[in-house]
Amino acid sequence: MGTVIDNAMLEAILAEVTPLIGQGRVADYIPALACVDGAKLGIAISTVDGQHYCAGDARERFSIQSISKVLSLVVAMNHYQEEEIWQRVGKDPSGQPFNSLLQLEIEQGKPRNPFINAGALVVCDMLQSRLSAPRQRMLEIIRKLSGVGDIAYDAVVARSEFDHSARNAAIAWLMKSFGNFHNDVATVLQNYFHYCALKMSCSELAQTFLFLANQGRSPRHEQAIITPLQSRQVNALMATCGMYQNAGEFAWRVGLPAKSGVGGGIVAIVPHEMAIAVWSPQLDEAGNSLAGIAVLERLTQRLGRSVF
Ligand code: GLN
Repeated sequence: MGTVIDNAMLEAILAEVTPLIGQGRVADYIPALACVDGAKLGIAISTVDGQHYCAGDARERFSIQSISKVLSLVVAMNHYQEEEIWQRVGKDPSGQPFNSLLQLEIEQGKPRNPFINAGALVVCDMLQSRLSAPRQRMLEIIRKLSGVGDIAYDAVVARSEFDHSARNAAIAWLMKSFGNFHNDVATVLQNYFHYCALKMSCSELAQTFLFLANQGRSPRHEQAIITPLQSRQVNALMATCGMYQNAGEFAWRVGLPAKSGVGGGIVAIVPHEMAIAVWSPQLDEAGNSLAGIAVLERLTQRLGRSVF
């Protein structure tokens, strides 16, 4: 404790990790992501007591990709009883790449957790069953939490995902064969791809995810998004499953609940204190932002923060 955050400190951390740029690879499974500038680097922090800090490319929007999996789970928590969710998706780390089909076959179509593709697809299937307009609902929630009214889907990225959807479609169809997928596959895939194609900046992400640092309630709103218990549960899932097969390594280096996306973003939570968002598009072999992790590692060491 004791170390004060300011924008100059964040700028200094970004400067320290800049030499890492060039060591990772921008996601290239769809053309719309392959053309992103790999040299981008930004960080934003929102605190529960109303402070906001930014450095580098913190105000530039990017594809949030799998970071959206946390938000779709939160929406599902609003519309389903606890048992209804967890009988269809597990709560354990998979130890496998995010788009793996391996365990799904062995484990009878029940995904290990909601933060791998299979789990997020089941969650999107649930939302399709109970919401009349799941895409519109997601935008409403994010716009409300962030306070930014023009956050939207990137239609080019969503389209590109759909044009290269073989693997996610295979995951959905396999789950359908086991009876764990109830709606039209193409419709649910479209929703899932749109969620992945949300365009947000670090600054907007930090503000949006602040409710997870504040027991389920965004400090700027009266009404809670989820209960304090649900907020702890989401943070626990992020800490164990948010960084895919590198969750253990990330816990070792950073020690915070976090969720990454292949757009190069990572959101991390310091419970009761702050939400942090970093962005650097070049990824490591697990699909996590290489420089982004290094930024979080340096930041938590300087601030002396860890949930462990
Ligand atoms: N759109 C990506 C996919 O479905 C999301 C994966 C990720 O961000 N890890 O494969």
